[in-house]
Formats: sequence, C-alpha cells, structure tokens
Amino acid sequence: MATTTKDLPKNGTVAAPPTTGASPTTVSPTAAAPSTITPSIYKEPAPILDRDNPLESMMQRFDRAAEILALEPGIYQYLKTPVKSVIVSIPIQMDDGSVQVFEGYRVVHNDILGPSKGGIRYAPDVNLDEIKALAAWMTWKCAVVDIPFGGAKGGVRCDPRHLTMQQIEKITRRYTANMLDVFGPDRDIPAPDVNTNEQIMAWILDTWSMHMKRTEPGVVTGKPIVLGGSLGRREATGRGVMHSALRALDKLGIKPQSATVAVEGFGNVGSISAELLSNQGAKIIGISDITGAYHNDGGIDVEDAIRYSESHDHLLEGWKGGEKITNEELLTLDCDVLVPAAREDRITKRNAHNIQAKLIVEGANGPTTAGADPILESKGVLVVPDILANAGGVTVSYFEWVQNRMGYHWTLDVVNERLAETMNGAFDRVYATSLKHKVPLRLASYILAIDKVARTLRLRGIYG
Ligand code: NAD
Repeated sequence: MATTTKDLPKNGTVAAPPTTGASPTTVSPTAAAPSTITPSIYKEPAPILDRDNPLESMMQRFDRAAEILALEPGIYQYLKTPVKSVIVSIPIQMDDGSVQVFEGYRVVHNDILGPSKGGIRYAPDVNLDEIKALAAWMTWKCAVVDIPFGGAKGGVRCDPRHLTMQQIEKITRRYTANMLDVFGPDRDIPAPDVNTNEQIMAWILDTWSMHMKRTEPGVVTGKPIVLGGSLGRREATGRGVMHSALRALDKLGIKPQSATVAVEGFGNVGSISAELLSNQGAKIIGISDITGAYHNDGGIDVEDAIRYSESHDHLLEGWKGGEKITNEELLTLDCDVLVPAAREDRITKRNAHNIQAKLIVEGANGPTTAGADPILESKGVLVVPDILANAGGVTVSYFEWVQNRMGYHWTLDVVNERLAETMNGAFDRVYATSLKHKVPLRLASYILAIDKVARTLRLRGIYG
C-alpha cells in the first residue's frame, strides 16, 4: 500500500485550500491532446490589500526602519528587491500513468552577507509573491542574529494531503534538479518549512549530490542526524524563545521563578518553549492548540501535556490538566509572559487592547500585526519580535552547515552553549539599538538588520 503524507513526521501545518488558480495540469501520456487544458502559466497574484497580513506588516516595518536609518533611495530599492526569482515547472508521472505539472519557486532575496538560507514549503496556495516576502524576512532574521547568510525561500504549489510519498519524492527530486544552479553549499541552502521535513531534505541532498558526483551534506540543513544533521536542531527554536524570554524578563526585573506564562500553540516551538521555561522555574498557566486552550493557575504540568499530545495525534483535545477556555481567552490571560507560537495574525488591533501580559515573546512568524504594534506600545508591553525571538532555528541550521563544512560533529552541549551565546548577543544588540533610537525592540531589530546589510553593501559596492 502506498504511504501517504499522513505518515510524514509532523512538521508545519497543512495550508488552507488554494485561494488563486493554477491547479496542476493533468495530461494522459497516451491520450490525444485534450482540447482544453488548464494552463499552468504563472500569474503574478494581486497585491494583498486591506487585510492584516504578516508580509505586509513586515514591509511596513522595513519602511519605518529605512526611514530612521535615512537609507539612500538606491540602497533602499536594492534591499527591497530580490536578487533572483526562479520559477520552474515540475512534470511528474502519476501512479496511473498520467502526468501532472506542478510549479516550483525559489527566491534569493539577498546574498550580500553570504550564501542565502531559507526553507522550502509545499502547499496549494504557495505563490511567488509570498515566497519573495518570506525570503526578505530571512535576510533580516539572519542579519539580526549575525550569522553570515543571506535570505531565500522556496516552494512548490501542490497539496501534499493528496500525494503519496513516492509522488512527493518525485516532485522533490525534479524540483531540485531544476534548481541545481541555484542551490549549493556556497550559494543557497534550503531547509524544511511548511509541509516539508527531514526526509525531503535527504532527497534534496541526494539529488544534488548525484548530479555533482560527490556527497555534499552542506547543501541543505534540517536533515536527519545520520546524514549530517545537527544535535539540538529540533529544540533550537523553542530554546531560542526561552533565552529571549529570560533576557527580557531580566530587563523587566521579573525573576523567572516568579513569572507566569501562557503559550499559544503546542507544536514544535510552543511545547518546547513551555517545557524549557517551566524548567527555568516559570509557572506555565495556559497552553493551547488548534483544538482549544487550557488554563491552570496552579501551574500546568507541561511534560504531562507533551506526553498526552504525543499519544493523541499531536493534539491536546481531551487533556484534563486544566480548565478548558477559548483560544481567544488564552491570549488575554492575566500573566507576565505570552508566547504566541502557533501562526501569524493572532494579536491584532481587535484584541491587542485586552492583552494583559507584560512581555510577548514571538515564537511564531508574524503573530502580531503592524496594527497591533502601537496599541501594545501604548500599554507598555515589551515585545520580543519574531525575527529575533524565533531565530534559534536558523542559528542551529547555520551550526549544522558549519559542522558539515568542517566534517565534524559538535556535542549537544556545544550546540546549546553557542546557541545561547548567539541569542543573548543578538538580544543585547537589539536592546541597545532600541535604547539608542528610542524605538520598540521590533523596529530596533529591523534597524540593526537593515543597517548591517546596507553597510556591507556600501563596502562591497554596486557592480554595474
Ligand atoms: P507546528 O505545526 O509544530 O505547531 C503549530 C501549533 O499551533 C499546533 O499545536 C497547532 O495545533 C497550533 N495552532 C494552530 N492554529 C492555532 C490557533 N488558532 N490557536 C492555537 N493554536 C493553534 O508548528 P511549529 O513548527 O511549532 O511552528 C509554529 C510557528 O513558529 C509558525 O509560525 C512557524 O512559522 C514558526 N517558526 C517555527 C520554527 C521551527 O523551527 N519549527 C522556526 C521559526 C519559526
């Protein structure tokens, strides 16, 4: 029996159904050419208007930072524009002999600081516009934590829920073969993202290596340990969230042992953040996942919740360790720290007024909209932004690449120690920038990142 994606280890959420056209083209190899074939022609999606959108939010923040830095118009244009956008078609022979053509993208936003780095997502609504914005996001994230990488992102427009593992492997290998000139350990290094995982990274590594006639583990990160993956990678984002939270609590004069914490989302980032903060003595009073939220003022037994979720298809539904509340109520619980670690657009101008936490540490990408920023600021809530707080993942990806380049494995202690150093150093630099410019940490992160890339660009000069 064919293995389906249900058997894939959980890694990211399955995206919503497509919102724009471009379904794959299906052609029977034996049939005469059908009179009407839905063309798989790339169409630039309309710009996203009038709705809270994490990518729009990012560009608004980019513009504010550029204004404060008084970026020259030429540099501003350069940094807004991706250096490379590639669209490829991926024809796959399906099990019944028919051929489906999928569309794949890779955008390198910037490679001024080093090879570009960024995940690959498989989802029915992936489009070039989204990939461009996410690639830019990666540029700023790498610059904030001071790792020598630029930013990139890739994706294939497909619905993995309706594909077998064999079909996903074919898509992955053909996508990689089409991207041979883009990918490379010194050029552009993919990693897992929504609906892609270690196995998919292993296929990319293998395909690239077969064509190059040498095994090159450094061409991807987030791969299985046995193929050169790094110890500590799985926990890295949650661990980075913990470091950011501890640093920020210190600034607020709150001891971790007296801090109360609510965590939204109980997947990779949320559950590990909750576990590690609890290990630091903080009291976790609320957790949630897609099925609902749980509140316990006496303190949630995080390990019990993790065990329950692991044995219930990664869901908390039916867990008895707390009083059931709504997901919306979890966000506004009376607590010191709120860790949104589920998805984007959760704290908006509609609910920001009701947030009671003193500190928000953004485990997810884009959980707070630009509209919510000034409200939180006026309430005096300290927000550690996503591009800093959740950069632990890309930091350990960088460590994985360094180990591959050295041909050497670090111990878990070495990985964790260096991660702590990187996260704490980044937090301190962002905090100092925030004091210098009298701006919130989010804007300070963008100022720091954009300034670093812009200074490097000025030194290298414009070739042309
Ligand atoms: P995951 O799929 O493992 O977990 C997501 C969790 O959020 C699940 O528990 C899901 O049930 C829950 N959830 C979804 N919608 C919810 C809602 N409306 N209310 C409450 N809970 C909800 O994903 P993850 O890897 O933990 O990633 C979470 C976020 O962190 C994403 O925004 C991701 O982009 C970001 N992120 C992840 C990493 C990483 O290394 N995994 C790195 C950087 C950023």
